[in-house]
Amino acid sequence: MKIINSPFHFKGGIHPQYHKDLGDREAIRELPLPAKLTVPMSMHLGAPAKPVVKVGDIVKAGQLIAEAGGFISAPVHAPASGQVKAIDQTVTAPGRPCQAIVIETSPEQEWELMPPIADWGSADPKILLERIGAAGVVGMGGAGFPTKVKLSPPPNKPIDTIILNGAECEPYLTGDNRMMVEHADHIAVGAQIMRRILGAEKLRVAIEDNKPDAIEAMAKAFEGVDGDVAVVRLHTVYPQGSEKHQIYAVTGREVPRGGLPMDAGCVVENVSTVYAIYDAVVNGRPLTRRVIEVTGEGVAHPANLMAPFGVSYAEMIEACGGYVGKPAKLISGGPMMGFAQASGDIPCGKTTGGILVLPPREVSNFTSQACISCGRCVDACPMRLIPSELSQLIEAEDIDGAANISLMDCVECGCCSWVCPAHRPLVQHFRRGKAIVNAKRAAERAKQQEAAKK
Ligand code: SF4
Ligand code: SF4
Repeated sequence: MKIINSPFHFKGGIHPQYHKDLGDREAIRELPLPAKLTVPMSMHLGAPAKPVVKVGDIVKAGQLIAEAGGFISAPVHAPASGQVKAIDQTVTAPGRPCQAIVIETSPEQEWELMPPIADWGSADPKILLERIGAAGVVGMGGAGFPTKVKLSPPPNKPIDTIILNGAECEPYLTGDNRMMVEHADHIAVGAQIMRRILGAEKLRVAIEDNKPDAIEAMAKAFEGVDGDVAVVRLHTVYPQGSEKHQIYAVTGREVPRGGLPMDAGCVVENVSTVYAIYDAVVNGRPLTRRVIEVTGEGVAHPANLMAPFGVSYAEMIEACGGYVGKPAKLISGGPMMGFAQASGDIPCGKTTGGILVLPPREVSNFTSQACISCGRCVDACPMRLIPSELSQLIEAEDIDGAANISLMDCVECGCCSWVCPAHRPLVQHFRRGKAIVNAKRAAERAKQQEAAKK
């Protein structure tokens, strides 16, 4: 099994303090089943799932409880056996309201699994793809894009390289690292299932060089796997886990502006998602749980917990010994791309990679000031944008002007905010600007569809 050192460095990026030592040696442990699960219908990108159960129904773990709400969507399955107590509203970590199915869990757990596909190595790729869709597998690295759609590129976009994203470049987070160390063999099977679906020649496992145990485990797991397979040791630099930057670091290819990984002949999939592919195909188990790291100096015993979807952040923190003193900040995800939360009463879902609790000494209070044109944000931006100018256009409500200088190419990595000496809330401006552009585009599409009907 080859281990290659990445020869390609993307422009920009930053080197924050990583704090990985809080959790990277903590073996994954099972979270005791909570009494109640609030399972959101929007744990993925695209249309929310539609409930197919009603209040009072008895459900088994793994049973379908909501069907996909459209082509870009994913079904949802019961994370535990129990009774449906309510179909209510909830709010997910990015602040989006959505429906949720509330399940009161029962002491006896019974699973309803799909039939395992034992002959996955010779099975029809369409059957494998259907299984991944039926199991509700979505990108677990943060975006939540439905995996079945990602693994169905159009015929004019052939894929020659599959990249398993094990970079986990966000500070603090270690769940993917633990998955690679503890489940390397299963991830290797998931990767071969992806290869059977896509027919790609090359399989690459991309891991930053600050995770030597994961590099060793994955290299061992792929020994004996046929074809052009290699682990690529990446430089530790944030945001090395961003799809576009990882494709460049692994292949030297650039995804064109406004383009997708398939435009560079690549599919990139997070290692936890690849494990979910294995689990869905080989064990017939739908996606109902994931590893979530509870970490930070503000929690008593940081841990990597295998948790069912719908458990609250507060219960996860409690399972790790609770808060140390009064927390200053609760973040869903890592400190760079995560979302600050007003309370722990938020349900975990398919894209919850971590829960970070920061004590007051780790949080600085500041007031944002005017731009001093120092140019540091331009040097740090890995997308070669001009964050200072973009933010000023958005503040002046010239959203079209910002879109004209590539606002939509911003990957919201936060490098610009991290280096800004004026503490300007640059990413917040970009998220707001992008939301306005997306809403405008959606309204235009709806208008065109309406006109086409007449
Ligand atoms: S958040 Fe956007 S503008 Fe800022 S550094 Fe990242 S890609 Fe560039
Ligand atoms: S880093 Fe901050 S102060 Fe410097 S140019 Fe960028 S926005 Fe302005």
